[in-house]
Amino acid sequence: MSLLPALTGSFSTPAAGNPTVAMMEAAYAHHGIDARYVNCDVAAEGLADAVRGATAMGWIGFNCSLPHKVAVIELLDELAQSARLIGAVNCAVRRDNGWIGENTDGQGFLASLRAIADPTGQRVLILGAGGAARAIAVELALAGAAELWVANRNITKAAEIAALVTAETASACTAVEWHRDLTVPESATLVVNATSLGLPGSGEVPLSFDSIPPDLVVCDVIPNPPDTTFLQRARQAGAATLDGRGMLLNQGAINIELWTGVDPDREVMGRALDEAIAGWVHP
Ligand code: NDP
Repeated sequence: MSLLPALTGSFSTPAAGNPTVAMMEAAYAHHGIDARYVNCDVAAEGLADAVRGATAMGWIGFNCSLPHKVAVIELLDELAQSARLIGAVNCAVRRDNGWIGENTDGQGFLASLRAIADPTGQRVLILGAGGAARAIAVELALAGAAELWVANRNITKAAEIAALVTAETASACTAVEWHRDLTVPESATLVVNATSLGLPGSGEVPLSFDSIPPDLVVCDVIPNPPDTTFLQRARQAGAATLDGRGMLLNQGAINIELWTGVDPDREVMGRALDEAIAGWVHP
């Protein structure tokens, strides 16, 4: 590495449990990319200063995580198509014309899903209607999912996603009010937990696995710890499962390609990510 590496990083709060830095720096080292990735704890009221700081210091890109994914938009110069549709940015890229906002969360999920299933024609129950759910719904629909149900306890947020997907894509999308022990639709082929339930101490995802369609694939977005109780229950009920590690890994790889033009080695990144996750104990 030179004495003046290119700078990238993440703005979020709380930031201490974010294992992204390990896999990004492993990729930079492996590919000889002269860059660093800095994990920054940035409060909501400090976000504008953080972006101004990144501009002043010549950062080539940064990630935004909770709670900044929507608030950052007004601080950027342009939005890429998926970020505009999703209405949230998790990756900013410095171009000649300023900061371009991208959303790579849904693309990371799709890349992870493609390792075990083709998104085309899927009938998907998405649990949750926050930023992750929105990104996953839009990308699944753009990738040719046949039908989506978005279930949320706050039905208004689910209805917003259903309206967006219906207006902007060819997929059918219905909002579902989520009561305890929701059952999986009989024709569903895929279930995605895109809520923050499943994080240690957050409580169990109230979905009934008493009767599930055959060949169902059940996914979780929680990357740390990856084998959530939700996925364990799904496996016990006979479903195949996909954890949130692959989503995190792939969105990180897509970010590096956007910032540096290098398509990084996922195995190298995955090993570093696993070590970081294994070494992190939730408070
Ligand atoms: P948001 O805060 O935007 O959304 C949270 C969602 O969870 C909302 O739909 C909320 O419902 C729902 N929820 C929270 N608590 C409950 C509860 N007790 N019962 C039912 N529903 C609940 O968060 P994000 O969408 O940004 O993130 C969601 C998760 O996705 C996080 O855990 C995050 O770590 C993970 N994630 C993983 C990524 C990866 O790469 N693997 C990338 C991005 C996110 P309501 O609207 O009713 O409040």
